[in-house]
Amino acid sequence: MALKHNVAMPTDLRESAGRFGPYGGRYVPETLIPALDELSEALERYWADSDFREELRSYHRHVIGRPTPLTHARRISSELGFDVFVKREDLCHTGSHKLNNALGQALLARRMGKQRIIAETGAGQHGVATATVCAMFGLECVVYMGEEDVRRQEINVFRMRLLGATVVPVSSGTKTLKDATNEAMRDWVTNVESTHYIVGSCVGPHPYPSMVRRFQEVIGIECREQIVKQAGRLPDAAFACVGGGSNAIGFFSGFLADESVQLIGVEAGGRGLDSGEHAAPLTSGAPGVLHGSFSYLMQDDDGQVLPTHSISAGLDYPGVGPEHSFLKDSGRAVYVAATDGEALDAFVWLSRMEGLIPAFESAHAFAALRTYPVPKGGVAVVNLSGRGDKDMAVAAQTLHLGD
Ligand SMILES: *Cc1c(COP(=O)(O)O)cnc(C)c1O
Repeated sequence: MALKHNVAMPTDLRESAGRFGPYGGRYVPETLIPALDELSEALERYWADSDFREELRSYHRHVIGRPTPLTHARRISSELGFDVFVKREDLCHTGSHKLNNALGQALLARRMGKQRIIAETGAGQHGVATATVCAMFGLECVVYMGEEDVRRQEINVFRMRLLGATVVPVSSGTKTLKDATNEAMRDWVTNVESTHYIVGSCVGPHPYPSMVRRFQEVIGIECREQIVKQAGRLPDAAFACVGGGSNAIGFFSGFLADESVQLIGVEAGGRGLDSGEHAAPLTSGAPGVLHGSFSYLMQDDDGQVLPTHSISAGLDYPGVGPEHSFLKDSGRAVYVAATDGEALDAFVWLSRMEGLIPAFESAHAFAALRTYPVPKGGVAVVNLSGRGDKDMAVAAQTLHLGD
């Protein structure tokens, strides 16, 4: 597969000095600056290194299972009146797009001589991806996870432990992802010499948002080639769910230069935007600083970070990657929200119409697909960021099928 970059808005135009417009930057303790500089240098050096890129390509093919297919969803296409193609990140090893990033960062960490890896995780998908690459490369692995999530995501906790990782439950704050991230940052400050922190989304201080996007860009680059081959044209619209925003930014990157392609990011509307119980910083938040970068954020009038709610743990985060804030303000991408109920409906719909059981996160993208005005006879692509297996217990409790 050719890895030609189709990105017409070049990296250096949309990003400069670690900022996307006003967003991004580094709001971190002084002690982390040398480590972030070291990481930036390693990223630029190895990203330009053909051996590194070849190694990454080889792992894509032989470990992750890339290129992932682009599936023509025929029954939903005929229901909606336009052609829908589904990018199958659910078929990546470990069940979601998360491994694209964890693997890329682990390869970089090895080049940098780091033997110890730390990560934060919410639902456990990023923790499992990180534990997987650490097992592959024989690296020490510590995963921080909120106590509440440890309780809710028993199976993923066991998976991580089976893979040899140490899972550290975090009991501060709301005992969820935001608190786990704080704890991972604290660990990194203390052990920065020996340790690489594999951040799980395109968030955090520079160079993380840019690095994570590069490791996820493969989704959009593959998809652009595939849709042109399979549909004979570019899509009218591209849909992806947005938690921290990594699957969406990787997917959108393939089409950023193609102005005719509308980019639609779908946030977690939870119990409705008016209820206040959601996780939709781009659709209802305001810019502020969280976890080392400046971006849209769910906060109160005093700048305190608000608690979030979503049926999908992977979207249940009050912040979002700075590049999405830039894309929102520039109008190049639009952001909408789908509620828990709409996502659940789409979850059942996609399962029954196409035989694809999506992760709850990805179901949000399909919920937006059902209502967004894509031109009749047009073409839409949707990123299926992960498979639904992890959500079966909650789905079974909530849906009562056949009762
Ligand atoms: C973690 C996760 C997400 C949300 O993370 P992004 O960084 O926004 O992509 C979405 N879908 C799945 C399946 C996930 O595991």
